[in-house]
Amino acid sequence: MSSEKAPAPDPDSGTVFNIQRFSIEDGPGIRTTVFMKGCPLRCTWCHNPEGLVLKPQLMWFDVRCIGARDCLAACTRDALELTRDGMRIDREACDTCGDCAKACPAGALEVVGRSYTPDEAYEEVYRDEAFYRNSGGGMTVSGGEPTMQPRFVAALLRKCREGGIHTALDTCGYSSPEVLTGLLELADMALLDLKVMDEAEHRRLTGVDPAPVLDSARILAGSGKPVWVRTPIIPGCTDSPENIAALASFLAGLGGVQRWDLLAFNNTCGSKYSRLDMVWELEGVPLKTEDEMVELAGIAERSGVEKVAWSGVTRHE
Ligand code: SF4
Ligand code: SF4
Repeated sequence: MSSEKAPAPDPDSGTVFNIQRFSIEDGPGIRTTVFMKGCPLRCTWCHNPEGLVLKPQLMWFDVRCIGARDCLAACTRDALELTRDGMRIDREACDTCGDCAKACPAGALEVVGRSYTPDEAYEEVYRDEAFYRNSGGGMTVSGGEPTMQPRFVAALLRKCREGGIHTALDTCGYSSPEVLTGLLELADMALLDLKVMDEAEHRRLTGVDPAPVLDSARILAGSGKPVWVRTPIIPGCTDSPENIAALASFLAGLGGVQRWDLLAFNNTCGSKYSRLDMVWELEGVPLKTEDEMVELAGIAERSGVEKVAWSGVTRHE
């Protein structure tokens, strides 16, 4: 028997669920967005349900499954059952080893989320360095919520700084002031999601108290670094003129925000929920119209933020 021990895991490693290249929506220029797993919020409309929990998860893609059953034979934990209604995953028994995914000839199973060292993630990010230079882009660390894995995020931001790559920290703001400030020092700019001003509504729709988020907004705005705020416009949740007006007056009092984006709801993430045995509560909810988005942007302009913009697909009446 070999006496060699496996190397100790890098304590700065982080669990990432996607590294998206050529992103143009997560800050200036062409960017690579590193999506961290784990989020303290549970927004009703979350478009990245695979980013909510910190641990890796197994996903089953019904449209790819050809019923080959190789996955069932590969699983030593008896965690899979292929029924007439689809694949049942016993998530208590599954340890996300990925053997079933390797065995599937159709690629119908995938483990979402894997551990990266900061070096590995930086290597991916650095591949598009020329694009960042030519477009004024860089790397955005997002999620999930990046402040939940501060050691990895700090190490990655440091590496980008050493490599001359511009960085953005994309946060929901639900973080301790110490962690946020520490990471912000290492980043070139921040993106902050502000969703709902009313306290009870915030709790109902996101599962958490808004006070830490508003405190984070104050820290970011007072930092002197560029801050872009983003608000998802979700029918029946965040899209009332009253909510946008309340956010506008908060931002007017805050100052220091360079840009405010209103992001129109889209309904494309339902399949992600079913792949994780979760329920997409906004199934069938219609998109916003262009007129509605224009009206909300008009209200948002009262904040005095230098640039207010809206984007996203809208419905024709
Ligand atoms: S903060 Fe973002 S990632 Fe977290 S639950 Fe809300 S929408 Fe999802
Ligand atoms: S990831 Fe591993 S434990 Fe989970 S279902 Fe697949 S083979 Fe079984």
